[in-house]
Amino acid sequence: MPKSTAGPEIERLILLLARLPGLGPRSARRAALHLIKKREQLMAPLQAALQTAIEKIEVCKTCGNIDTQNPCTVCTDPKRDQSVIVAVADVADLWALERAAALNVRYHVLGGTLSPLDGVGPQDLTIDALISRAHDPAVKEIILALNATVDGQTTVHYITDLLHGSNVAVTRLAHGVPVGGELDYLDEGTLSQALRSRTPI
Ligand code: ZN
Repeated sequence: MPKSTAGPEIERLILLLARLPGLGPRSARRAALHLIKKREQLMAPLQAALQTAIEKIEVCKTCGNIDTQNPCTVCTDPKRDQSVIVAVADVADLWALERAAALNVRYHVLGGTLSPLDGVGPQDLTIDALISRAHDPAVKEIILALNATVDGQTTVHYITDLLHGSNVAVTRLAHGVPVGGELDYLDEGTLSQALRSRTPI
C-alpha cells in the first residue's frame, strides 16, 4: 500500500481523475495539483461546466448524438445536406468526422457494432431507426462510416443487406493509405485493400 501524501479529499479527486481515459495515476496526480493551484480560474468553471452537463445533456432522439438540446444542433441545422446520413458506431466517431469537416451532413449513432462473440445483436443497436430514417424520401445516401474491423464490416454488410432494393445508395469509407503514410510501413491488409480500392486520377 503506497503511503498517502494528501488528505482523503484530494486523494479522492486524484482517484476520480485517474478514471478518465488517457490519464493514468501519475497524470491524474499532476492534473489534480494543477486544478488545485488554479482553483479560481479552472476548478470553479470546471465545476460549473460539469454541473451544466449533468443537468442539461441529453441523447438526441433523432440521431443519438449528445447535446444540450433535443433534437441536437446537428439535426436542427438547416444548412446541412438533408439527403445524406452518415452512420457511425459511437458519438466519438461523429465528433471525429465533424472535426474533419469534409461533409456537411447529418448522422446516425448506432450505439456500437454487431459482435456475435460479445453477444451484441441488431436489437442492441439503433439499426431499425436508421432503416426507417433511410426510407425518408429526402434521403438519397447512407454512408456507413464504421471501423475497418471484423465487427465493423459485419455491421456494414448487415445494414447493406437490409437496405438492398431501397432507393438509397449505401456507401462505406474507403480503406487505404493514410495521409502522410509511407507504403513501406503499412501492414499487408491495408496495402492490399488500398490496391483493391484504387481510384482513377
Ligand atoms: Zn441529432
